[in-house]
Order: sequence, then structure tokens, then C-alpha cells
Amino acid sequence: MSVTTNSPFARDAAFHLHPQTNLRLHEQIGPTVIRGGEGVHVVDVDGNRFIEGMSGLWCAALGFSNRRLADAAHRQLLALPYQQAFAHRVAEPVIDLTEALVERAPAGLTKVMLQSSGSEAVDTAIKLVWYYHEAIGKPEKRKIIGRARAYHGTTVASASLTGLPNMHRGFGIPLPGFLHVSCPHHYRQAQAGESEDAFAVRLARELEETILREGPDTVGAFFAEPVMGTGGVIVPPAGYFEKVQAVLRRHDVLMVADEVICGFGRTGHYWGCDAFGIRPDMLTCAKGLSSAYFPISALMVSEPIYQAIADQTDRLGGFGQGFTYGGHPVGAAVALETLRIYDEIDIVGRARRMGALLQEGLRRYADHPLVGEVRGIGMMAALEMVADKRTRAPYPAEMKVAARVSDALRARGVLLRALGDSLLCAPPLIIEEAELATVVDAVGEALDQVQRDLA
Ligand code: PLP
Repeated sequence: MSVTTNSPFARDAAFHLHPQTNLRLHEQIGPTVIRGGEGVHVVDVDGNRFIEGMSGLWCAALGFSNRRLADAAHRQLLALPYQQAFAHRVAEPVIDLTEALVERAPAGLTKVMLQSSGSEAVDTAIKLVWYYHEAIGKPEKRKIIGRARAYHGTTVASASLTGLPNMHRGFGIPLPGFLHVSCPHHYRQAQAGESEDAFAVRLARELEETILREGPDTVGAFFAEPVMGTGGVIVPPAGYFEKVQAVLRRHDVLMVADEVICGFGRTGHYWGCDAFGIRPDMLTCAKGLSSAYFPISALMVSEPIYQAIADQTDRLGGFGQGFTYGGHPVGAAVALETLRIYDEIDIVGRARRMGALLQEGLRRYADHPLVGEVRGIGMMAALEMVADKRTRAPYPAEMKVAARVSDALRARGVLLRALGDSLLCAPPLIIEEAELATVVDAVGEALDQVQRDLA
């Protein structure tokens, strides 16, 4: 697009401090300005159409033009645009949504607290780990264990729990009390010849040793994404969560499942917990909850945790937790309609069917000279680029090979996300077979082009 002083391009560079962006680079290259959306496509201000192969940030499960969601928001905006949930107040759709979530939740989760973002849900979960343990007379159980390469958000606590160094650099975090154990990535972390099972045993032992070293009386919870998303679509080795949960139970450490990406069908199961036999004490979800049509997240907790917290609020004369927009009626109405649509179109069956095509399609490139590993489950996948397939040595970071592949894809009308050495793919769950084939074929063409460019 043309750059005049009055263009959106120039005004964005002039006024907008972008999140998760190299700001000096942004001053030079400016934004991609997106104006519209249609199905799985987004359209920029110059009229270029792209398949949004990442559903935005893993979130627009129903694509970018769902009329029913827009109507649900409109109806609720006209009926009651705002109502808080503090101090015994509530709007009707919020009651309906909490009930609908408990009906769909993994077994044992019986109460729902609403917020506006994944980070807020995770932050709230961390605070409730502390609050719960104080309530049951174990106030020392405060340490929180996460994993290398996990992503849990950007608030001070959720970023501390995150295991990605680029989220810590420059901020002086993680805060004390946040520990990280190894990432369960067999391709990168397993020792030579180590089976998936032996790898899982070793990771569970590492977790147990960490808890014992710190003192079980000081460790409150373990947080895990069932499948790590932003860390590069890391599917854990078989048996991993079973072994991890045995350790947690032995030491009375809570299991918190961060389903902000995995929830609502993304893995080909309703919850990532279902895919891996996780029985969480708490669960966070967002993104697919409203298909991103409204910022809303949920934290679900088990009945024993609720009962302990409820007693404590009674003892303390209140509950010092809650956000102005937690339990927003418009968000609740949109999320409710989203859940209804998921039921009607059998989102899980659909994600499983399309996910099989996506995984099979991308695995065609496992032998491509640039590709070290193709991995994923359901409708989330990644290709990891390597300079040497045998030694698995990565390309020098400054070559930005995954970014070049994503640039080549963009020129072909497909948006995927390069993160480090990996190219991530998580299309809207409503994607049709032909559109999925376009994405998969474009990945092959982009890999070939970059291979030629590097030769
Ligand atoms: N947890 C996970 C697993 C996520 O992937 C994300 C965001 O990508 C978050 C938490 C934070 O969510 P939000 O960006 O809505 O704060």
C-alpha cells in the first residue's frame, strides 16, 4: 500500500506500540493492515486474501465471518451491554455459560470463574493455588512448577510460569518461586536411542527430584499445556502425563491444565485433557471459548478446591479476586453461542477428520531436505527446520529459515507463523478439505522455494 503521512501504515507506525513486535523494525516496515474476514480467509486493505492458517493466534476456530456470533453479541449489547459479577450480581448469560462449561468440563471440575484473557485465567489459577493452600492450613505450598518452552501468558505471574526466555528477557522475571522442568520434546530432548517411554520415565523422575529438592511442603502446583502450543506444538511422549500425575499425587501437588489453546476441539478431542488422560484440579481455557469473537477466558476448579476457597472467603469476609470484565454479559452470550455451534457441527468429529488430513498432508514433507521433524495432533501442527537432518543441527538463527518459509507461504496466500526454527499451523476448525489441501500444497511449494534460494 502507498505510504503517505496520512496512511494507516504511517499512522500505525506513529502511534501504535505493538505487542510482541520488534518496534524499531516496525518503524521501518510498518504493519500489515487487515480489513476484513470471510470464512477461513482474511483480507488486507489492498484486497489481498489469505488463508489464516493460524486462526489468528490459535483462536478463531469458527473463522472470520460467523453471523450467529455477531448477532449474539449484537443482541446482548442491546439487551444489557455490561453487568459485573462482583458482590452477588450477575447477568443471565453468565449463569448459562458457567452451567454449559461445567456440563462439558473434564470430570470433577464443578465451578467456573470468568475473566477476559488466557493470561488472566492463568494468573487467577496461580493466586487460587496460593489461596487454597493457605485456606487448608498449608500456606508454605506456594512454589509453582512449569516447563521449559511452555507458554502461559504475559502477566507478571503467567510470564514467570512461561518457559520461553524471550518472554523473560528485559523484564527481570521469572519471579522467585517459579521453577521449570524439562520440555517433553522427544526429538530434541531425548538421549540417543531413548524410547518415548524411557524418556517419559526420565522426565517424571526429574519432576519428582525437583519436588523433593525444593521440599514437597513448599510446592503448590504443576501447570502444563496438554500440548505445548507457542513452544512449537510439542506433543508429549506416550505415558508422560500418567507418570507425571502419579508424582504429583504422591506429593500432594495440584495439577493445573492450561487448555487456552487445546480446549474446544483443537487436538481432535474436546479437551487436551481427554487426549492424554489428564485429571486436572483446575483448568484454564480461552481462545476457542468464544472463537475469539469476544475476549473471554474461564478458570474451572474442582469441588474440594471450591469448598476450601468458599470457607476461606467466609472466614476472611470476602474474596479479594476478580476483574471488572470478568463475567461480561456480551462475552458470555458470544461464548454460549459458540458452544452451541460446536455441538451442532460436531466440532470434535470435524477437527478429528480434518486433523487427520492435516497431519497426513504435512507428514509428506518429513523427508524434505529442510525439515527435521513434522509433529502435531488434531488441528495443530509444526514443521521444524534443520540444517542437517542426521545430526539435527539447526540453521544459524540469523538465517531465519522458518521465517523465509512463512514469507514464501504468504506470497502464496497462506499465513502460517514462524517461531524460531519451527513453522506452526493451526487453521480454523471450520476449514474445508479443499482449503486444507491448498495450505498443505503451499507448504510444499514454499519449502521447495526456500531450498532453492538457499542452494
Ligand atoms: N496459556 C496458553 C497455553 C496460551 O497459548 C496463551 C496465549 O497464547 C495464554 C495462556 C495467554 O492467553 P492471552 O494471550 O489471552 O492472555
